[in-house]
Amino acid sequence: MPEFPASASWFTEVWSAEGSAFSLEVTEKLHEERSEFQHIEIYQTRHWGKLMVLDGCYMVTDRDNFLYHEMLTHPALFTHPNPKKVLIIGGGDCGTLREVLRHPGVERVWQVEIDERVTRLAEQYFPALCEANNDPRAQLLFEDGIAWIRNCEPGELDLIIVDSTDPVGPAAGLFNREFFGHCLRALGRDGLLVQQSESPLFHTHSLIREMRSELAAAGLTNQLTLPFPQPIYPSGWWSCTLASAGLDVRAFRETDAENKAFATFYYNAGVHRGALNPPEFMKALDEG
Ligand code: SAM
Repeated sequence: MPEFPASASWFTEVWSAEGSAFSLEVTEKLHEERSEFQHIEIYQTRHWGKLMVLDGCYMVTDRDNFLYHEMLTHPALFTHPNPKKVLIIGGGDCGTLREVLRHPGVERVWQVEIDERVTRLAEQYFPALCEANNDPRAQLLFEDGIAWIRNCEPGELDLIIVDSTDPVGPAAGLFNREFFGHCLRALGRDGLLVQQSESPLFHTHSLIREMRSELAAAGLTNQLTLPFPQPIYPSGWWSCTLASAGLDVRAFRETDAENKAFATFYYNAGVHRGALNPPEFMKALDEG
């Protein structure tokens, strides 16, 4: 059995309920603090660049964040017919914001992140993720997204992106019908919500099913869960879920996606088309 090299240091996140764990070799702990909301750690890894950890959970690395940030944003932005006003709830590392702002038709983005320390540390240790933070279209707010969405005017938004931590602590209230009802009110029938929806392997028959049931109860009945690889998250396989009341979430602006004017490392029109056809075991999600 291969042994961990004793001379090396490792950061490990254990998923005890699943009898698995994921480790990265680290060479230095660069920062650690307890903000008002969570325990934040920053490490230098040997092969994955810098690593941010929140409350002991992997959040983002230099090496693989493109998978998550591209798949949480571009399928939704190319599904909406003309996304101009976008809300990001969470997203404190600012990688999602950077991807949204690559779309020239986007006119305003509000990023509502509850913990300002996550963003300030991202600016210091993950400057590439924060390169769009000074875009005049962007407004960074440090508040609870659950409270903020309640005060949105009806129909004010075209797209809501929920880039939150797991449904515990301050993020717990981002996965229920009350929150989704406020989202629908802010979006109107032809608006679109996309939310990180955890691991298809671990959560299809639990959290993902429950979250989709809550979305439907709030009236966001057109739904599609898109799986994609994400090595540092539980099981290494992640997902986001698109939902709308009136928009067809299985149709997207294919020509615009094919001719996108910006570079990506994972997303393209073919990947998007492929993600429209879920793996066999996930088809049950569409059968209610
Ligand atoms: N990619 C990560 C994932 O899938 O777990 C999420 C990245 S981002 C750093 C998650 C952010 O959600 C954290 O910075 C956390 O502070 C924020 N967050 C959690 N609950 C929130 C809430 N109610 N309102 C706004 N931000 C929240």
